Amino acid sequence: MDFGVPDKLNDVLGEVRRFVEAQIVPLEPVFLSSGFNAALPQLQQARTNVKALGWWLPQIPTEHGGMGLNLMEYGLLSAELGRSMLGHFCFNCQAPDAGNMEILLRFSTDDQREKFLLPLLAGETRSCFAMTEPEHAGSNPVWMSTSAVKDGDNYVINGHKWYTSAADGAGFAIVMAVTNPNAEPHSRASMIIVPADTPGYRIVRKIPVMGDSGEGWASHAEVRFEECRIPKSNLLGEEGAGFRIAQDRLGPGRIHHCMRWIGICERSFDLMCRHAATRELSPGRQLGTQEIVQAWIAESRAEIDAARMMVLKTAWDIEQNGAKQARDSISLIKFHVAGVLQRVVDRAIQTLGGLGMSDDMPLAYFYRHERASRIYDGPDEVHKQAVARRIMQNYGLNLRSGTEK
Ligand SMILES: Cc1cc2nc3c(=O)[nH]c(=O)nc-3n(C[C@H](O)[C@H](O)[C@H](O)COP(=O)(O)OP(=O)(O)OC[C@H]3O[C@@H](n4cnc5c(N)ncnc54)[C@H](O)[C@@H]3O)c2cc1C
Repeated sequence: MDFGVPDKLNDVLGEVRRFVEAQIVPLEPVFLSSGFNAALPQLQQARTNVKALGWWLPQIPTEHGGMGLNLMEYGLLSAELGRSMLGHFCFNCQAPDAGNMEILLRFSTDDQREKFLLPLLAGETRSCFAMTEPEHAGSNPVWMSTSAVKDGDNYVINGHKWYTSAADGAGFAIVMAVTNPNAEPHSRASMIIVPADTPGYRIVRKIPVMGDSGEGWASHAEVRFEECRIPKSNLLGEEGAGFRIAQDRLGPGRIHHCMRWIGICERSFDLMCRHAATRELSPGRQLGTQEIVQAWIAESRAEIDAARMMVLKTAWDIEQNGAKQARDSISLIKFHVAGVLQRVVDRAIQTLGGLGMSDDMPLAYFYRHERASRIYDGPDEVHKQAVARRIMQNYGLNLRSGTEK
């Protein structure tokens, strides 16, 4: 295994870090104080600059206008972008669009490509992904009520979703709906593209997340589908293939999340160390002279470095052997890195005291919004059980339960 920085990224990573510091971090105060829409004109300018520098869509193959980075290379870049909550958006590799681009690239028809994928790649529109339903446990995603019933050339969709991230202002949603209720659980649902202006598609509200409703890309919506008529030609891939397609984006998607979280850890660590070095408890006695703060610094450094190595090893494993072979590593990093993230951000807030709790610093935003890292894309417990189940199988104990993914 070679986790060295590939030659082609040697200069780029440093340049991207400087770009994030110089052009993206300065946009954070207006985003944090006035919201996504207020920051949008400056974010669009940053996007134009990113395009001009040749860094647009780092995760997308060059023939589709991206940088063509492989999973490990993109992971390294993603850790630089994660230093700001606006980094990925400025490079057009933000969730949920990045995942949607990936599945559209693989499964869309020519017509879908033209209408939905190309505007997304160009940054002319945004998208969202609607799977989770308030009435059912999202950790058992095959259990859902949203239905898409065929009627002539259309599907008629009825259902209720929530935590549809970035739905506010998105041009279209990719919706998971049951089209084949009598099939095996994993073959019941399909992905269907729903343009946001379709009658019957309705955003009910932006869900307040720890007191912050957000707006635009930086928000999570509750949505309803009420007799929502969509042409059959908007079916993505085959009917009943929804979960197979979702599975496809999950392995690489988790690397993307984990490396972004490592970027957040690095930024939080920097802020913690800078504050510990300069904040005086009394004249000439810096906070960093306290052994307990030194322990937080050392523990954080060890945890971030170890997490980074685990994620890079998993990315390498996926590239060498495929996501299925790497599934244990994928589950391990998903819960382990989310835990490191939570602890590092928490220690940084503690170090900064009142300043850490305020939106004058990005830490409170990280804390509010990244607490969810232990819940989305499979809660910690589900990943732990999946890994333990496979381990225990080697010891002759069968722990398979009916509700696991
Ligand atoms: C910020 C945020 C963004 C999101 N974005 C999207 C999005 O864009 N699109 C989308 O469709 N969904 C999205 N989600 C939803 C997310 O995927 C679900 O919240 C997640 O799958 C968990 O489902 P649930 O909330 O229904 O929790 P439940 O499934 O009800 O689980 C509740 C808790 O029970 C525990 N638990 C669950 N299963 C087990 C088990 N087998 N054993 C032991 N304990 C268990 C876990 O601690 C879990 O947190 C988002 C969620 C958040 C918080």
